[in-house]
Amino acid sequence: MKSEYKILYIEGDGVGCEITPVMISTLKAAVRKAYDNPPALVFEEVLAGEKAEKLTGESLPSVTLEKIKESGIAIKGPLMTPVGKGKRSLNVALRQELDLYVCQRPVRYFNGVPSPVKHPENVDMVVFRENTEDIYAGIEWPAQSDETEKVIRFLHDEMGVNKIRFPKTSAIGIKPVSREGSRRLIKAAVDYAIEDGRKTVTLVHKGNIMKFTEGGFRSWGYELVKDEYGAVEKDGKVYIPRPDGDILVNDCICDAFLQNILLKPEAYSVVATLNLNGDYVSDALAAQVGGIGISPGANINYETGRAVFEATHGVAPDIAGKDIVNPLSLVLSGEMLLRYIGLREAADLVISAVEKTIAAKTVTRDLYNLLDDRSGARCLGTKAFGEELVRNL
Ligand code: NAD
Repeated sequence: MKSEYKILYIEGDGVGCEITPVMISTLKAAVRKAYDNPPALVFEEVLAGEKAEKLTGESLPSVTLEKIKESGIAIKGPLMTPVGKGKRSLNVALRQELDLYVCQRPVRYFNGVPSPVKHPENVDMVVFRENTEDIYAGIEWPAQSDETEKVIRFLHDEMGVNKIRFPKTSAIGIKPVSREGSRRLIKAAVDYAIEDGRKTVTLVHKGNIMKFTEGGFRSWGYELVKDEYGAVEKDGKVYIPRPDGDILVNDCICDAFLQNILLKPEAYSVVATLNLNGDYVSDALAAQVGGIGISPGANINYETGRAVFEATHGVAPDIAGKDIVNPLSLVLSGEMLLRYIGLREAADLVISAVEKTIAAKTVTRDLYNLLDDRSGARCLGTKAFGEELVRNL
């Protein structure tokens, strides 16, 4: 353990200035409590978003990127995505500039959180969503533009494509999915399963329809586990042999997967999937265990070690400044950060404090409003909820 860990943070727009102080005080208190000689957690603010724009005239100053590249670890509140032409999403810019190719979302249930399903406690998955490729690469052109006309002409004249149903009014998007990109994402998922003692890795894809892109993702996944992890076939199933019990590697078509997570979520543990599927899957799973205010996330490059942990919700303009926002998404992202830098005992304390607080029906307004039985429940403001969390560490 080091004597000091420097953590960069971006406060975030909207509710960011309410949830960030709760995250910082919870993480610091957890580290103080977990160790006899606790290391110092030094939080240093870097600017992005509206605050950066106000103070520097730029929404993503180059010094912010440089500092994150150098230090490697940061945590961020939500950032307003400018709607309109020419302005890049800051979240996408951060992911691209730092090549954060894994979007990692653990999805688990905390006892007492209101959920729309009968057995939310059966959900315990970690989703690895590819973050740099797929239809999200942003290679598309509007209908009837010169570019689209050119692409369609090329496809028709040189590639013999005659399947575009309405060529004169189609917009066109390109879906790049590479062997390299798929393998590095799936490798991160498999390494996580090994490290965390998990027993299933599921490749989620739509390879029955998109045979070379999504089907490629699936084939490259099986190829990877055979090449690099000595996976073997037994009774038609693929296993990675491990001294503590083999890991089953299987795959599932995305639409069936979205049904199965409702019908038999206990069948899945670590999930590796492409960018667009991952977007849908992560939000569907988050909803099963209590939704937007409590789901944590991280964007990670496991090769360089760089990682940006983040609240998964947006800037929530409708509730900003009212002291009612739920800080748990950011606090639990901070918990992931502690685990990532090796402070597992402090991370475990954060989890048990969240469990204890929610089990005592002490919640913020979003969850309070959804409780079926409010007897004995307490609805606290963001700041007071944060103080209760620290008391429960
Ligand atoms: P949002 O997540 O900000 O809000 C959706 C709804 O959920 C709102 O009613 C909000 O009050 C509620 N909500 C969100 N987080 C909550 C929390 N922690 N506690 C209680 N209630 C919560 O989504 P949106 O309205 O679609 O987006 C608003 C802005 O945020 C947009 O500019 C969008 O681009 C941006 N955004 C940023 C990120 C990010 O930085 N990672 C993610 C999503 C959206």
